[in-house]
Amino acid sequence: MNLVRRRSLRVVTCLFHGPRRKAKEGGKKAVCIRQQFCSNPDCDYYLITDDKIHALMGYGTHGKYEDVQDLICQACRKKFTIRKHTLLYRLKTHSKIVRLALHFLATGVDISALEEVMAIRESTLRTWLVRSGVQGRKLRERFFTGLELVHVQLDELWANVKQAEQAVWVWVVCDAKLKVVPVVQLGSRTQEMAYSVVHELKSKLKVGCVPVFSTDGLAHYFYALTAHFGEWVRAEGEKKSVWMVLPNFLYTQVIKHQRKYRLVEVEERHIWGLPEENRRLLKAGGLSGNINTSFVEWINLTIRQSVSKLTRRTWGRAQYTSELSEHMYWWLAASRYHFSRCHESLRIRMEKPMDRKGKQRPKEYREVTPCSGGWTNKSAAVVSDGIDQLSASISSGRLSM
Ligand SMILES: [Zn+2]
Repeated sequence: MNLVRRRSLRVVTCLFHGPRRKAKEGGKKAVCIRQQFCSNPDCDYYLITDDKIHALMGYGTHGKYEDVQDLICQACRKKFTIRKHTLLYRLKTHSKIVRLALHFLATGVDISALEEVMAIRESTLRTWLVRSGVQGRKLRERFFTGLELVHVQLDELWANVKQAEQAVWVWVVCDAKLKVVPVVQLGSRTQEMAYSVVHELKSKLKVGCVPVFSTDGLAHYFYALTAHFGEWVRAEGEKKSVWMVLPNFLYTQVIKHQRKYRLVEVEERHIWGLPEENRRLLKAGGLSGNINTSFVEWINLTIRQSVSKLTRRTWGRAQYTSELSEHMYWWLAASRYHFSRCHESLRIRMEKPMDRKGKQRPKEYREVTPCSGGWTNKSAAVVSDGIDQLSASISSGRLSM
């Protein structure tokens, strides 16, 4: 009865004054509780990550091979480990070993080779990979919103999946300027998949943003793009509204003709919009003005080299589509591509060159990753700058909010 009364009082206080703030007095914090929150859905401080507001404090450690910090919420007295909602939750293996294995998997090492070298069972490695893929997906959903893209290129690459009933393709969407990959989907090469890919892309774009599009000769893209980048318009005197493609929508197909495995001709088909308008918009966006699909093809090759399940003529192909999908998300979203891999074309010239040790030339450029180079979402840039290589989704793992 007493408990019930206390709880209702706290809810009322919270309703009128907002979450309570901590007092200024008290000892210095010994345990880092930044970006942590109370995991109890019934608590007033649930999902509050600001360490000046929430009521978390250290509560000892546990673990056989390494010390894992425990926390307690002073408001609801609920105890939980700092690893909750991360990929390390309830794993007994030392975090360094998990980190190392995931690092290898993100650099294109085959899972069976890793099993032999690290003496870890393949099923365990697959479990870690699926967990990391889930974290990568969350990280991606959290930061890939309100994108302002200039030149979007779409392509698809064939994947070798053992248990799939029909051929599986990896649908890739990339931006030529920021080098980000906002959409990756796995599925068959059908019109429904094209709709799904473009629908996801549209949901990640800033409202009103209509980039220039270029694809290969697959006709499905035309129907998917025109279905998403248009509006209902009712002309004067007409009873029914008509779907009209947006006036600033531009779409080009780039078709490469080959003869005896050699490229002989590159054909540009301006499906929607004039070529001059295309070039003008691309130049205005800071690009060369050339219409091509070379950036997405370059990313396709990078994906093939970095995700071992997509390597050509491999024995270590994926068993299921979901497995390949999680591997892709781990590499793309969390570990390597967006947050820790520097891209040479994105580097920024420093105002004053930085001196280096010995006879080395002064450093003239600051290396940046796709997520810290000119992206509109500042929090993503902060994460990108602060992320230490592989610990990307391990250390910033509490992403269930
Ligand atoms: Zn609590």
